[in-house]
Amino acid sequence: MSHVFPRHTRNLPPVAVSGEGCYLTDASGKQYLDASGGAAVSCLGHGDHEVIDAIKAQLDSLAYAHTGFLTSEPAETLADLLIEHAPGDLDRVYLVSGGSEAVEAALKLARQYYVERGEPERGRIIARKQSYHGNTIGALSAGGNEWRRAQFAPLLLDISHINPCYEYRLMHDGETPEEYGLRAANLLEEELLRVGPETVMAFIAEPVVGATSGALTAAPGYFKRIREICDQYGVLLILDEVMCGMGRTGALFACTQEGVNPDILCIAKGLGGGYQPIGAMLCTAQIYQAIQDGTGFFQHGHTYLGHPTAAAAGVAVVSAVLGRDLLSNVQRQGDKLRSALNAAFGQHPNVGDIRGRGLFMGVEMVADRSTKAPFDPTLGIAAKIKKHAFENGLICYPMSGTIDGRTGDHVLLAPPFIITDAQIDELVEKLGKSIMQAL
Ligand code: PLP
Repeated sequence: MSHVFPRHTRNLPPVAVSGEGCYLTDASGKQYLDASGGAAVSCLGHGDHEVIDAIKAQLDSLAYAHTGFLTSEPAETLADLLIEHAPGDLDRVYLVSGGSEAVEAALKLARQYYVERGEPERGRIIARKQSYHGNTIGALSAGGNEWRRAQFAPLLLDISHINPCYEYRLMHDGETPEEYGLRAANLLEEELLRVGPETVMAFIAEPVVGATSGALTAAPGYFKRIREICDQYGVLLILDEVMCGMGRTGALFACTQEGVNPDILCIAKGLGGGYQPIGAMLCTAQIYQAIQDGTGFFQHGHTYLGHPTAAAAGVAVVSAVLGRDLLSNVQRQGDKLRSALNAAFGQHPNVGDIRGRGLFMGVEMVADRSTKAPFDPTLGIAAKIKKHAFENGLICYPMSGTIDGRTGDHVLLAPPFIITDAQIDELVEKLGKSIMQAL
């Protein structure tokens, strides 16, 4: 009998024993095409020997040192590497162990920044519906996925959630994407004016929404207008690239594709590529300076901050993504994946939208393509697709989300950056079969 506490207590998963490239193998010898990189984690695929060797070398010299006393060479190197490529004025890197920790650090840094600046009335966060920022209490409060939040509601912070930028569902007839992008962004200003801009410290959003919305990209100009509004009202812009960052969309930082620089940026997942648990919060020199000029102490922290072994993995992964020119591969294979999905499902009566950027693609399922009516939530279409895909040897990331009471089912695809043409064909063929079985 297993003593592991699994995610689904009535449905124990097979035991994974090995991974090579885009495939995972379980103890029975069954192979799975890892078409979502777990949860958009395994950007280099499995069994990357350069990364493994870098981790082994780090373990041989130093596995761990507490950042309360010491920094370490891999942490310094990783911070330098990230800042060398980071957009705008991002200047400091706070290394944590995952995405939720990066978001918690971002929220607390935003708060401390305003306290240090003598504006303690700024304590409110504005976030978006249909978003996901992690499962710890602060991050879950920022997230706007109703199902994930529901049972924990009494524990959550009072955070405003505005509508996301969701062309497929929320753009009006006759509106251009640019007009819609502007209208969607202006919801932030409306909410600021409603709650009092002087009480707001930060707006948080995912540049491309992942876990709750199936690779939802923003309408053109949306994030530029968001940046303007944040600047106008002195509100920090926190961008959460935990899922969409580190090359997934074809740029190391997805916000550069929007032409927007955040004040605080959160990354994780593809930063360690699954080889080690690691995340990071990056902030501007200005924010750092406010702490430096104030108490000189960020009142936050965890035991595993700046973990040397995790940082060594991060250096090796980011170096591989850049050094092997994998960003070009993401763009090239992303285009192929999009074309293959369009060819296979573009006219499917139950596929409403195929969207995304780079190797971060989403398929939105609908009961009726012409009306965009979602499936009855009790049918559990997303869960059925996931089950059949797994049986068919395909790991993808189907999920259901709710916005304004309507439930939608999506399948998120985020394969390793090394995926080949033949593996894209295999992915689309297995996904098509699984969708057929689920309907
Ligand atoms: N932020 C985003 C955008 C995510 O997609 C996730 C995880 O899916 C998180 C934060 C939380 O990251 P983690 O699961 O590493 O805590």
